[in-house]
Amino acid sequence: MGRHAIQIALASGKGSTGKTTLATNLAYVAAYRGHRVAYLDCDVGNPHGNIFLRPTITQRTPVAASLPCVGRESCDLCSRCNELCRMVCPLDAITKTSHGVGMVETGSAGSIEFAQGLFAAGRPRAAPIIQAVKSVRVNANLVILDAPAGTSCQFVETVRGVDFVVLVTEPTPPAFQELKLAIETMQTLGLRSGVVINRAGPDGTGAGYQQCWLSPPGEPGGAMRCDPATQPRISEIGRKTRAYCRVRQIPILAEIPDDLRFAQASAGGLMAAGVCADLVPLFEQLLGAIRGRMQTQTPVLGDT
Ligand code: SF4
Repeated sequence: MGRHAIQIALASGKGSTGKTTLATNLAYVAAYRGHRVAYLDCDVGNPHGNIFLRPTITQRTPVAASLPCVGRESCDLCSRCNELCRMVCPLDAITKTSHGVGMVETGSAGSIEFAQGLFAAGRPRAAPIIQAVKSVRVNANLVILDAPAGTSCQFVETVRGVDFVVLVTEPTPPAFQELKLAIETMQTLGLRSGVVINRAGPDGTGAGYQQCWLSPPGEPGGAMRCDPATQPRISEIGRKTRAYCRVRQIPILAEIPDDLRFAQASAGGLMAAGVCADLVPLFEQLLGAIRGRMQTQTPVLGDT
C-alpha cells in the first residue's frame, strides 16, 4: 500500500446495505476529481467491486499460508487436539505445511488501481489473503478498502490500521442491530469512524426504504408498493439509528436517498455516479465529510 496514502474502509455489519455500491462510486468520483485512487476489495469471499469497476487484470499472485497437517502414521486418534487446540498434539503428529489458500488479482480500472482477493476452493482462510491484498503496492494518495460484511475476524483484519471506517447501514431492524455491533467493534479497536444511512427516505428517517423492503414476495409490481401502515415502524428505526449514533458519538456522514437509479445502475453492473452526473456531488460531499471527520474526530474508545 502507498506509504502516505489515506486509507478509508467501507464496511457494514449487515450484508446488502449497498457497501460496495458506495465504495466503487466513491473511488470513481475521487478519481474523476483528480485523486490518485486505489480500490482494494478485501471482501475475499464475495468480491463484487469488479462488477462495477470492470478492471483489466494484469497480474495474478498466489497466496500461501501455513496450515496444520496430521500425519496418519503418528496419530493414534486420541482426540486431544480437539479438546485443547488443533495445533497441540502429545505425539507431535501435527506439522505445519504451506498450502495455496487463494490469490490476489491486480490491475486497473481506468486511472483507478485495482486489487481483489479470492479464496481457493475448499481453503477458506481469509486473513492471509486480506493481508496480501492490503500489502499490494500502489501509487495512490487515496485507498478505498471494501471490507467483508459483518464483524468477524475478516472485517477486523481489513479495518486494522486504516485511517477511517465508513459504516454503511440502512433503516431496517437487522441492519440496525448489526450496526450497533459494528460501532462497538470500532470503538473497541479505537478507530475513527462514521455512519452512512443508505436508502434513507426524504425526511432522513428511512421511510423511502419501505418501497422495496416491505414488498410482498412474488406479488407483481409489489416492489414499488408502499404500505402506509408500516411507515411509523420504518421511521422509528431511522430515528433509533440517529439516536444511537448520537449516544455513541459516531457522526452520521451522509444519508443517501432511496433513489431507484442506484438499483437500476447496480442491476446493469454500472456505477450510478458514472451514468447520473447529478449524483456526483453526493459522493463529493461524502468524501468531504470523511476528510472533515478525519481532521477533527478523536477515536472514541469503548469500555472493553
Ligand atoms: S492429538 Fe495428535 S494423536 Fe491425538 S488425534 Fe490429534 S493429531 Fe492425532
